[in-house]
Amino acid sequence: SNSKTSSVSPANGNGCTIPPSDHVLNLEQGDPAVYESYWRKMGDKCTMVISGSELMSYISDFTSVCWFLEPALEAAVRRLHRTVGNAVVDGDRHIVVGTGSTQLYQAALYALTSPGGPEPFSVVSAAPYYSSYPDETDYIRSALYKWTGDAYTFNKTGHGPYIEVVNTPNNPDGTLREAVVKNRGDQGKLIHDLAYYWPQYTPITRPADHDIMYFTFSKSTGHAGSRIGWAIVKDKEVARKMSKFVELSSLGVSKDSQQRAAKIMGVICDDYENCKSTDNSELFFDHCRQIMADRWERLRKVVEQSVIFSLPNYPQKYCIFSGESTEPYPAFAWMEANEDVDTEKVLRGQIKVQGRTGRRFGVDQRYVRISMLSREDVFNKFLERLSTIKSVTNGH
Ligand code: PMP
Repeated sequence: SNSKTSSVSPANGNGCTIPPSDHVLNLEQGDPAVYESYWRKMGDKCTMVISGSELMSYISDFTSVCWFLEPALEAAVRRLHRTVGNAVVDGDRHIVVGTGSTQLYQAALYALTSPGGPEPFSVVSAAPYYSSYPDETDYIRSALYKWTGDAYTFNKTGHGPYIEVVNTPNNPDGTLREAVVKNRGDQGKLIHDLAYYWPQYTPITRPADHDIMYFTFSKSTGHAGSRIGWAIVKDKEVARKMSKFVELSSLGVSKDSQQRAAKIMGVICDDYENCKSTDNSELFFDHCRQIMADRWERLRKVVEQSVIFSLPNYPQKYCIFSGESTEPYPAFAWMEANEDVDTEKVLRGQIKVQGRTGRRFGVDQRYVRISMLSREDVFNKFLERLSTIKSVTNGH
């Protein structure tokens, strides 16, 4: 049979060879290639076979608020959160599945603003904010909502109904966050983007329990290509409207992907449940946290030696998942040049490393965001090249 069709070639050019020294290292997107090696080691543990007659229907469960959510995925999501302890999923919580959390962001905007009033809701997030929020908020020029930028500025001078997006830990700068707009009574609504609230990136300080929070398969296990995200929603009417958005925009979410996600989440949870030894280092989150810790340690060494860039420092916190105090190891390095230069340009010009400028995140060009989730050989190459920079003002 054809059960192991693993001959799919990498479409992103991240094939099998180390880029030669004159190639640009693309560390601009957060493509989670770092996780491939773990899943390769797992061999066939996550392999699944789908026959031609399976998963054909649009429908998963017509009695459910999210009728296109596969019950197996719903169960796996709840189990994963119980295993990790990073979100409250018991009680009256509704799960809505999306084609990536990208779709759920838009579904949440729609759910919180429809049918719409005389003026559009302002959508804000504290700078530096995830660069896709402005783009995704405004690309269809909705009359329901409009991107209004930095939440700190809005807190001082803004008015009217608003939605604040809280991304914690935050992309790009890795900080833990809370809402910053205050004292607006019932004019404000919150969306919590918890894409990076997983133990490999941050101490899990408590089970998150917000009105609307979403997570993604892309950053939890690294399976960005499956395009699976899920929202945990307290209010049934909001969950119903979010599901309606997904229904209108894509008539549901790939069942093949949902089943695969359920399988992989199940394997992670089984491994944690069955692990009798005290050595957890081969379990998914522990193993990946170790990789991130190692990368951050090596990056900090190089940055300290160069003295021309700086990185944020993050406080240790007690992690309820690991049962010890741990340090954040964000998915991105938020590098600041110690002089007023266009840091993205400097890195591209001097060492052929492509990051994303601070300007895209609502702050200045001294900052650049670098992905920490590349394949190991690409990351090594990045450090090698970074260590050759001696100055940001010459050598162009
Ligand atoms: N939110 C944040 C903060 C992200 O960084 C990303 C991916 N870069 C997403 C949402 C969207 O991810 P996806 O659509 O793959 O779930």
